[in-house]
Amino acid sequence: MNELTNFDQTAEARDIAYHMHAYTNAVRHAEVGPMIIEGGEGIYVEDNEGRRYIEGMAGLWSVGVGFNDQRLIKAATDQLQKLPFYHNFGHKSHAPAIDLAEQLIAIAPVPMSKVFYTNSGSEANDTVLKMIWYRSNAMGKPEKKKVISRMRGYHGVTIASASLTGLPNNHKSFDLPIDRVLHTMAPHFWKDGNPGETEEEFATRCANELEAMIQREGPETVAAFWAEPVMGAGGVVVPPKTYYEKIQAVLEKHDILFVADEVICGFGRTGNMFGSETMGIRPDVIVMSKQITSSYIPFSAIMMNDRVYGPIAEESNRIGTFGHGFTAGGHPLGAAVALANLAVIQDNDLVANARDVGAHLLGRLHGLADSPLVGEVRGIGLIAAVELVEDKATKSVSTAGKLGGLMNNAMMRNGLISRNMYDAVAFCPPLIITRAQADDLFEIVAKSLGELE
Ligand code: PLP
Repeated sequence: MNELTNFDQTAEARDIAYHMHAYTNAVRHAEVGPMIIEGGEGIYVEDNEGRRYIEGMAGLWSVGVGFNDQRLIKAATDQLQKLPFYHNFGHKSHAPAIDLAEQLIAIAPVPMSKVFYTNSGSEANDTVLKMIWYRSNAMGKPEKKKVISRMRGYHGVTIASASLTGLPNNHKSFDLPIDRVLHTMAPHFWKDGNPGETEEEFATRCANELEAMIQREGPETVAAFWAEPVMGAGGVVVPPKTYYEKIQAVLEKHDILFVADEVICGFGRTGNMFGSETMGIRPDVIVMSKQITSSYIPFSAIMMNDRVYGPIAEESNRIGTFGHGFTAGGHPLGAAVALANLAVIQDNDLVANARDVGAHLLGRLHGLADSPLVGEVRGIGLIAAVELVEDKATKSVSTAGKLGGLMNNAMMRNGLISRNMYDAVAFCPPLIITRAQADDLFEIVAKSLGELE
């Protein structure tokens, strides 16, 4: 099956022969073939046939500083020269991990006390779940182990994080979710609001549903609530204004922790350094990855407050160790790149840029609302989505996201990489994007939509 003739030695043929892709229909890949990206500059990437695209998704919602930032590259090469690897098991440490932990705590949106390092968003969420179970045991509450995340939430693909994820394709045939993980409704007013219901009433209904779930399960059995401040992979869902205020009131009443998964929102995406600030969330734990290094290096981190850390520290003392950690957790290369990345974001005020250019882009996208194919335009900061519909009146979506797929292909032909989640096409360009570049991005969206109408 994998034998290639001499005539088939193209990168495309070898990719089909040897490379199993993530998030791909493996059988169809053999027909469709790969898109091979060879280089990048600023907000653009170039494929192996010399075609240039605006990377409208910043890779995977992650390359905040663009594709060739020299400060990050220099930080990585300098660190490789100095100390290519060390770990933090036992009492070992190194300067980049210490400096970064201090910086993260300094910029945290709420008081935090400790940083723990992991390597991906999935691993970080997995680790937080383990920490929460460990903490409940430490507090003599072994029954307090259930966690609630949301339908359409995305938290990763390891066994625990895929269970937290509330998307069917991450569960089907994987025998997930695991017990102890429950999903409450997504706060998507346009899609799930009842006729005549206001946004405020909808937010109340979301909080009431959470309260009812907690009562059904037994409040003493629920340890934590998990949420992306703004949902990303579930279709860029910006909750109604009072949603988190109401959700937090329920959680506080039942002594339930709030875990903010800031893997997409973190480091400027929503127009503040953290999505928690934008949304008025007071989290106990913050999960960070992707834009922490602009994804130049795999890296993730968890920040927790004393309420979480205190019991865990005591339990580790009782047992003799906190029996958890990753070889590459807090890797010096990743930490050095993260420090440079944070400096680039701060020195160039990319958070303000995300706010300014994001508002400009969203304003332009709103101009598409009259198209018969556009159901909703939504977003905040520099993250947005246009949801396509077959019928505006009924908000009916196409089968298997066909419309979104066609739009995605049209944009690709016209030089823009986006991503469709069923019929919602998302835009999450690098934070460095200028207004003029956002206009170019928009022109491609408008042209592609015109081709579909
Ligand atoms: N959490 C959120 C909010 C994400 O968007 C993602 C990835 O898209 C993850 C977690 C998982 O991160 P990773 O793919 O690095 O495991």
